[in-house]
Amino acid sequence: MTAVSSVAVVGSGFAGAAAAILLAEGGVQVDLFDAKPDVGALGSGITIQGNAVRTLDRLGVWEEVQQHSYAFDELGLRAPDPAGTVLAVIPDAKTGGPDYPATIGAYRPDVARILVARAEAVGARVRWDAKVEHLEQDDTGVDLAWSDGQGLHRDRYDLVIGADGLHSTVRALLGIEVQPKRNGMGIWRAFVPRPQDVTRTDLVYGGPCYIAGYCPTSEDRIYAYLVEDAQDRTLLSPEEQVATMRRLAEAYHGPWDEIRESLDEHAAVNYTWFTSHLIDGPWNRGRVVLIGDAAHSCPPTIAQGAAMGLEDALVLAELLLAGDAVDEGLWQRFTDRRLPRAKAVVEASMQLADWQLQHDRDGDVPGLMRRVAELVSTPA
Ligand SMILES: Cc1cc2nc3c(=O)[nH]c(=O)nc-3n(C[C@H](O)[C@H](O)[C@H](O)COP(=O)(O)OP(=O)(O)OC[C@H]3O[C@@H](n4cnc5c(N)ncnc54)[C@H](O)[C@@H]3O)c2cc1C
Repeated sequence: MTAVSSVAVVGSGFAGAAAAILLAEGGVQVDLFDAKPDVGALGSGITIQGNAVRTLDRLGVWEEVQQHSYAFDELGLRAPDPAGTVLAVIPDAKTGGPDYPATIGAYRPDVARILVARAEAVGARVRWDAKVEHLEQDDTGVDLAWSDGQGLHRDRYDLVIGADGLHSTVRALLGIEVQPKRNGMGIWRAFVPRPQDVTRTDLVYGGPCYIAGYCPTSEDRIYAYLVEDAQDRTLLSPEEQVATMRRLAEAYHGPWDEIRESLDEHAAVNYTWFTSHLIDGPWNRGRVVLIGDAAHSCPPTIAQGAAMGLEDALVLAELLLAGDAVDEGLWQRFTDRRLPRAKAVVEASMQLADWQLQHDRDGDVPGLMRRVAELVSTPA
């Protein structure tokens, strides 16, 4: 007996794909909707912490992700000086436990492809180009209206999971007014060849940017990033974007000298603002529930966003598969297990960003990082 026999999952990112895998594996009929034309329409690299790796293993994809990622167990700190001097090398917390690396870097589209393929392999039906437009619920189910090139369609499900990201349509359809707020920082990211001496993430605090960092994603590639005061960069042409990132990178050395030379039209340079938000209460309204960035987001200062989305899916699927009804008890258990943990991660990520924005050198960064690592080391 499970609490549901049919579920629509809206959004095929980390959170939605994970929910689809676990529910389909548990015998639930799952339709996974995504407004994108296909799985490849994502970009850039991602840093995935051990607790997320542990969840990827639970999803049955860790072996394959391992082949498409770069693992490391330490973090370097460098100075914004002409030599890119290494100031410290710190062992990274193994938040997934001793069996997994502390951190992996990966190319996002690779992980997305692996997750969606797994969802299909365990029986979820994936619908691309399928935009969820409207929903209406009663005591026994949810009527979902979605559109594709052919027109508007309607289907009924026992439950709808809104895993449709930062600007969630499902959140809006539920009338939840919480919205991501900009925190004042913007990030340049580029995907470039790996300098041979880049074998872990190194961060540089200071110089013209708050943070200059990189993360290896394979033997061949890394993604590099520069965090600055948020600015309207929308009017820059692709060439101007590359030139701007190169100019900002001039202050950084060591591997950055090689990275800077690689910043050209092939580097997939892009610019995004940091945001944060949290639905500080239940993430469901009746039989519709939000997970992942639809429910919470934070600046990636501790790289836990994807991990939190994966864990939301894990806990939700566990409760739905173990339960026999979609009732208040189930939602209370979900809220109790997810809200405090996600809230702690959002607040810690915001605190780290605020210390940087205020140039506050007295903030207890190691203490805060240690507390978050301890929290997320405990399985969700
Ligand atoms: C600059 C930046 C860097 C980051 N770096 C890291 C990092 O290094 N490590 C980390 O853990 N986290 C990082 N994060 C956070 C992380 O990217 C997110 O937390 C995570 O990707 C969210 O996954 P999700 O599945 O909730 O949503 P998403 O990945 O956003 O997926 C939502 C999906 O829903 C689909 N969708 C939207 N609307 C509809 C609709 N109406 N109908 C159907 N489909 C719809 C979209 O097409 C999309 O595919 C970063 C975030 C930012 C902004």
